[in-house]
Amino acid sequence: MKFTDILQQLNIPYKTEGQHHHCRPGWVNLDCPFCGKDSHKWHLGYSLESNYLHCWVCGFHTLVETLMEITGYPPSKCKNLLKDIEPAKIKKEKPRGKLIIPKGVDKIRNAHRRYLEDRGFDPNLLQKIWKIQGIGLASKLPWRIFIPIIYHGKTVSWTTRSISKSKKVTRYISASAKEESIPHKSLLYGEDYVEKSIIITEGPFDVWRIGPGAVATLGVGYSLEQLIKMTKYPKRAICFDSEKEAQKRAKRLCDELSAFDGKTYNIQLDGKDAASASPKEIKQLRKEII
Ligand SMILES: [Zn+2]
Repeated sequence: MKFTDILQQLNIPYKTEGQHHHCRPGWVNLDCPFCGKDSHKWHLGYSLESNYLHCWVCGFHTLVETLMEITGYPPSKCKNLLKDIEPAKIKKEKPRGKLIIPKGVDKIRNAHRRYLEDRGFDPNLLQKIWKIQGIGLASKLPWRIFIPIIYHGKTVSWTTRSISKSKKVTRYISASAKEESIPHKSLLYGEDYVEKSIIITEGPFDVWRIGPGAVATLGVGYSLEQLIKMTKYPKRAICFDSEKEAQKRAKRLCDELSAFDGKTYNIQLDGKDAASASPKEIKQLRKEII
């Protein structure tokens, strides 16, 4: 019996590899009953091989609690349904692909520079430490900041941030699976600079503001690989946006990390996020954690 057999039996819709962009090889995706019932966003991934559930928005869930939430059945019935589940044997994804840098990546231009300065960043410093570049006029990804994702000193993937003020433009666009040599969602942006203490944020701008020692999960939610990487550091501080949903994720991550040796803190800054925090606040944060 497989988990997908149970889903079929109970008429629970799910997507398999290739049917939706959230659905990677080795996974099936469901609507998360905890944060996206009938949303058709398919945030809740089930690992066919490892037999666990992880939602991109609200984190890990047990099979039993998830089935209870979807069906309304009592725990005993759900446990009974799940008792004969066997993990599928999946061929491992090839870990290394080939890195493809988008066309037009070059030194940052005045427009990029202005955008960064407006947000209170020093473009020269960002180029030096974080190796950012720019994309100007281009058919794909025009007018964006190019942010390489560096692992052990080597660029293995990338993301880009639009410098447009228009709300219609997607803010972040990252490398697809075919364009990266290591999947960016398995890495922590900025980890090369971390020593004993880690400050965990969601975006590169937060990392730039806090400086070396901070990492980003690159987007909403975190993967199991990222969680495992975080547990290696004995002192961990989570510093997500102050808005409600982000704080829910922070709380969840805090709970998950607290199960491991070491200390975990959830830090809430005064402003909306670390990227917009004052130098004084950042100084205080670095002093306490790093
Ligand atoms: Zn969820």
